[in-house]
Amino acid sequence: MSTTQSPHRIWNFSAGPSTIPLAVLTQLREDLIDLDGTGVGILEHSHRGATYDRLLAEAGRSCRALGEIPEEFEILFVSGGATNQFSLIPLNFLADGATADYPDTEVWSAKAIIEARDAVPSATIAVPFAGKEFGYDHVPEAGEMTPTPGAAYLHYCSNNTVHGTRFHNPPKAAPGVPLVCDASSEIFGRPMDWSKHALVYAAAQKHLGVAAMSLVIARREMINKPVRHLPSMFLYGAHAKYESRINTPPTFAIHTAGLMFRWMIQQGGVREFERRNDAKAALIYGIIDGSGGFYRGISRLACRSPINVSFRLPTEVLDQKFIGEAARAELDGLAGHRDAGGIRASMYNAMPHEGAEALASFMRDFIRRNG
Ligand SMILES: *Cc1c(COP(=O)(O)O)cnc(C)c1O
Repeated sequence: MSTTQSPHRIWNFSAGPSTIPLAVLTQLREDLIDLDGTGVGILEHSHRGATYDRLLAEAGRSCRALGEIPEEFEILFVSGGATNQFSLIPLNFLADGATADYPDTEVWSAKAIIEARDAVPSATIAVPFAGKEFGYDHVPEAGEMTPTPGAAYLHYCSNNTVHGTRFHNPPKAAPGVPLVCDASSEIFGRPMDWSKHALVYAAAQKHLGVAAMSLVIARREMINKPVRHLPSMFLYGAHAKYESRINTPPTFAIHTAGLMFRWMIQQGGVREFERRNDAKAALIYGIIDGSGGFYRGISRLACRSPINVSFRLPTEVLDQKFIGEAARAELDGLAGHRDAGGIRASMYNAMPHEGAEALASFMRDFIRRNG
């Protein structure tokens, strides 16, 4: 099926959409024309047909196996990105006049706060940690956050994609308050403690393939008790009841996520990716820390993200030179987010160790020429 000539691929460190394994892309190319010998491509199959039934069931099973997701959690594929969930979560779980906790650890959690306030104007969105005061260089340490007793839930972002910080352990909500987690940039990059969570969601374009879809993993008891009446497309419970196909779902994105789950299982699963991600991160942080201050990490040591490594050079002119020369060396997507500046190397599950090594050797070479 595939051409014998290997395709031109460069190292893509983009924060998202981001690199997808060639094995998955090659499979998708075949499936576009003829899915599983049916003579019909994935884009053309009915979402009510037997082929799609099987594909959807397999995607759900692989997801559960990969993530070791307990049975009391529903696995949903919902159209729209993480930003859509920023609205749907308060609409489903935050009653009028109630309070939810939203520690602000960066751009994405800040956007979630704005959307929650717009979704339920009569509710209180409490911000028990305001990371902006610290330039978002860390997530709350023990004692740095005061959660609200009796809150409807606590929403947090486990891996902060822009500044490159991470919660090593989930934050402590007040007793009995459910934890809701935006894990967009790290889902299945390390094991998740499901016992501590009520709902975990992730936009698909970082670890699961196609943009404009989200994976939502939620306790049945939570989604079956929405706090208000809502149209069906806004109700997680309805997505569960109709098996993620209330209407025509994003079938291509769901199939791609299914292939990504299978690929991650074949590669050794979540613990193996945690090991690989830690090794890639150790390589790049090692160069930053050994550069005598030439490269400076943006996040505090204690909460560095192994997935999104952010750093600066001595001047913005050097930042730009670094990004330009890296692109010419086929290391792409290294410009930092506009809110953080500097350099950001996003090394998701699909970034092989060789990619991190290529970046490491470029960084060593760059400091020799400019340090
Ligand atoms: C990328 C990202 C988002 C935004 O996802 P969209 O699909 O563009 O809405 C939200 N949260 C985090 C943590 C992200 O990394």
